[in-house]
Amino acid sequence: MTSVSKILADEKYDREAVITLLKSSGADRELLFTKAAEIKQEYIGNKVHLRGLIELTNRCYKNCYYCGIRASNKKVKRFTVGLPEIEQAIKFTYDNNYGSIVIQSGELQSEEFTNSIENILSSIKKIGKGTLGVTLSCGEQSMETYRRWKEAGATRYLLRIESSDKDLYYKLHPNNKKHNFEDRLKALKYLRNCGYQTGTGVMIGLPFQTIENLADDLLFMRNLDIDMCGMGPYIEHADTELYKYRKKVPPKETRVDLSLKMIAILRIMMKDINIASTTAMQTLINGGREMALKAGANIVMPNTTPGLYREQYALYNNKPGINEEAEDSKQSIEKMIERAGCIVAYGEMGNSRHFTKR
Ligand code: SAM
Ligand code: SF4
Repeated sequence: MTSVSKILADEKYDREAVITLLKSSGADRELLFTKAAEIKQEYIGNKVHLRGLIELTNRCYKNCYYCGIRASNKKVKRFTVGLPEIEQAIKFTYDNNYGSIVIQSGELQSEEFTNSIENILSSIKKIGKGTLGVTLSCGEQSMETYRRWKEAGATRYLLRIESSDKDLYYKLHPNNKKHNFEDRLKALKYLRNCGYQTGTGVMIGLPFQTIENLADDLLFMRNLDIDMCGMGPYIEHADTELYKYRKKVPPKETRVDLSLKMIAILRIMMKDINIASTTAMQTLINGGREMALKAGANIVMPNTTPGLYREQYALYNNKPGINEEAEDSKQSIEKMIERAGCIVAYGEMGNSRHFTKR
């Protein structure tokens, strides 16, 4: 028995075991993916739940070193999608039976922003007749704001820890009040306390990141007992601070491999959570999203942001779908899901089973 087969048979995923799985290759690597596929089939089945993604605004008051829409990138043309266009996107999601919506944005902390999200949530309720699940991904906010958004109809929240290693976190963010590691942890606790289905995640293949860091990220997610995860490869953006370390970024193939292994291991460790197949996977490699579904992911987020704005929501270089209108993305995503051997669960919210069971 190889050490990988023993780990998978014993189902004891401690730090050393997770590191071994992340480093697996050849037949051992295949064993890992076979196990993840079995567990996915048993606990999740082959249904994929869709979330119509709206990128609300690229305005952001933060300066994360990896992100193309960071506040100090003067090359970005800033936009905020107006309510009528948002309502069109909500209608698209409802009419096409996607089941859920994600509102993602730069991080803004103001009464005006809090209100605008409340207005959107009220439109989602009205247009979707209360049948649409809603995920927000609008960064760190106060407990009060999270509570207000929950009361207005949001049920899930995704806030990536980006890296659970404090030292690495400060290599990715300025070390100041706006980018405080402890505040990020606190925000995740607030979300849980407010009763959200709570999601987090990390970027994979960052400069300075080690296999040990990634193993710790997985253990962090398990310790936090998350309900959902959105993680994917780091992709360089030329107008960011981190770009100067691009030579320290692992090759594409390694980032894809590590991302798939992270998904597979998390599926094995946290059997019934929702795991997203991210756009960043598709950016790095053609077919990346279906590879992620095969590795254990079960959520896909077709972009429904009006085409006009997509180009300006460039978190990283070469983001796909930038010139596609929502309808094109829908068709290509359906085909991709079929290719992965999965089916689209139309009209279902697709809540985290892990959350529902708790
Ligand atoms: N502003 C909110 C926040 O940071 O939580 C939500 C939107 S933010 C654009 C969503 C995610 O994009 C971040 O959590 C980060 O992991 C990811 N992201 C940003 N720049 C990236 C890059 N260069 N490569 C891969 N992912 C990136
Ligand atoms: Fe702003 Fe989020 Fe980008 Fe950081 S990752 S700069 S908070 S949009």
